[in-house]
Amino acid sequence: MEQGTTILPIEREDEILLITDIPARICANCGEAYLEEDTSINVQTLANKQFSGEISYADSTDKRKISVLLYAA
Ligand SMILES: [Zn+2]
Repeated sequence: MEQGTTILPIEREDEILLITDIPARICANCGEAYLEEDTSINVQTLANKQFSGEISYADSTDKRKISVLLYAA
């Protein structure tokens, strides 16, 4: 396990939210990210604020472009 960050996608109804730069312990073998319980709670709180409109997309500090593609084989 090494300290790093991860990205979590959260789906709710017609919205997909990405929360980035979440501190996590990363498995050196498979890359799986493990969040501390406090961090998981913070992520949920942040998601709830976003979905309730308390935080707007324009307030996000991560300015990377987000692309969403529907799977097609
Ligand atoms: Zn692993």
